[in-house]
Amino acid sequence: MRVLVVEDEKAIAKDLVQILREDGFVADWSCDDEDAFFRGANESFDAILLDLGLPAIDGKTILERWREAGITTPVIILTARDDWKDRVAAIDAGADDYVTKPFHKEEISARLRFVIRRSAGIAAANGALWFRDGILYGSSDKDVAAEFEIEPTRVTPMTAADFIL
Ligand code: CA
Repeated sequence: MRVLVVEDEKAIAKDLVQILREDGFVADWSCDDEDAFFRGANESFDAILLDLGLPAIDGKTILERWREAGITTPVIILTARDDWKDRVAAIDAGADDYVTKPFHKEEISARLRFVIRRSAGIAAANGALWFRDGILYGSSDKDVAAEFEIEPTRVTPMTAADFIL
């Protein structure tokens, strides 16, 4: 799983990258806001750790720009413990979760796994899923309908709402 770390403070960034690599993530680091926006928008990451306090463009603005551009990569924001208003604003801007500084290394990886798991579930629910005879088929089972000679009208595509039971 590939994670982009956006953090301008070198010591914290180094810690984060090390924690992530120890826990089996592939971690890339960006300390520059424009570079971070570009990479988050154009490269494929499973999740992004985003510091809110960046020198030129703040983290919340970068997040808003990603979401406006249709980038749905899960984003966990890093904030100081007393920045609750910034935290709320960032969540409203499309952040998926947050971790406060100073952080515990176990919490970083656990929250990343959580948002990645959740986003994978949402992606599956938005894709083509088919239910037949008690078996759920994913979008990779393209030939299922042909194999079972199912008429298109007899196959019911499922939506995210079907999973909220
Ligand atoms: Ca910072």
